[in-house]
Amino acid sequence: MKISVPNLGNTSIAAKALFEGLQIDYVLPQVSSKSTLELGSKYSPEEICLPFKIMVGNYIEAMEKGADTFIITGSCGPCRYGEYCELQINILKKLNPKVELIVIDAPGDIGKDELLKRIGKISEKSPLCRQEKLKAVYNALRVINAVDDIEKALRLKAGYEIDRGHCKRILYEFKRRMLVAKGVNEMLSLIKEYKKIVGSVPIDKNRRVIKVAIIGEIYTIIEPFSNLYIEDKLMDYGVSTMRTLYPSWWVKNLAMSPLKLHSIDIRMASKKYLPYYIGGHGRECIGEAVLAHKHGCDGAIQIFPFGCMPEIVSKSILPTISKDKDFPIMTLVVDELTGEAGYVTRIEAFIDLLERRIKKCII
Ligand code: SF4
Repeated sequence: MKISVPNLGNTSIAAKALFEGLQIDYVLPQVSSKSTLELGSKYSPEEICLPFKIMVGNYIEAMEKGADTFIITGSCGPCRYGEYCELQINILKKLNPKVELIVIDAPGDIGKDELLKRIGKISEKSPLCRQEKLKAVYNALRVINAVDDIEKALRLKAGYEIDRGHCKRILYEFKRRMLVAKGVNEMLSLIKEYKKIVGSVPIDKNRRVIKVAIIGEIYTIIEPFSNLYIEDKLMDYGVSTMRTLYPSWWVKNLAMSPLKLHSIDIRMASKKYLPYYIGGHGRECIGEAVLAHKHGCDGAIQIFPFGCMPEIVSKSILPTISKDKDFPIMTLVVDELTGEAGYVTRIEAFIDLLERRIKKCII
């Protein structure tokens, strides 16, 4: 068994920590690129959403390096994501009949025993005892929480940095070093080292910085290739960004969902505008928009793939929030045909608008 995962932001770093901790053979996905998307599009149904196509491209690239087992997260929800695993396994089986997909789903949907059985499948090739396996899982969780926290801190600090580009350089260097680190212990000491580095970035605390919340469809906002590296672009403009949906958030949300203690703040915030779950993370998008305003952001950018059903519903509600709270919200829709020039122009125009609003308030 050679295991792999599709790209999803920092998930590859956590997967590396987990597989190395369990001492099982693995392949990390290549950084997603245009050729990944082309490869995925070739084998995917034409009308399926963008994340599906990029994921299929990731699988095929990993299969070329010998991967035969993939872990994906599942959903029995009403959007197309509920069909992802069935459709993807059919595509992959045609390329390699021996390939396997392990779907990690919410215990409320598949039952606790089934979830444990699936997790057991991942670790069955590990030579370690039960206690050591649990330690490997614990360390992988520590890694994903810490990596996400470091990224959040750097993206927020980017607006205040004295030396433009400093935070982005640290973030890139940190992730690169994490991906080549040998073993979990080296990864954990890198985390310790970079926490100190992040804390010592020189900043101008008195600067009036533009703060933007990134909201929308979970895959598109977590996986930078699918959103054309929007957060990196905003860092280049000296804009601070905030985002709730990180892989570590997803893990916590999944763990708390059987007790109905997940995303309480988001649920409360979305109550007035969208009190129901509509599939995907449509409700979270609404709650996050309200919270972004409450937490002092100057605006929010919603991003989702073309044809995403839950986010289309959210998109129709966001103008009401924007009007009620006098809070600018821009929507960006991406697909394989999105042109970078037009995309960048829209982001720049939105930042200009926020800048003018801030100046007006100061005058
Ligand atoms: S949330 Fe949207 S993009 Fe994601 S799987 Fe569902 S329909 Fe597709």
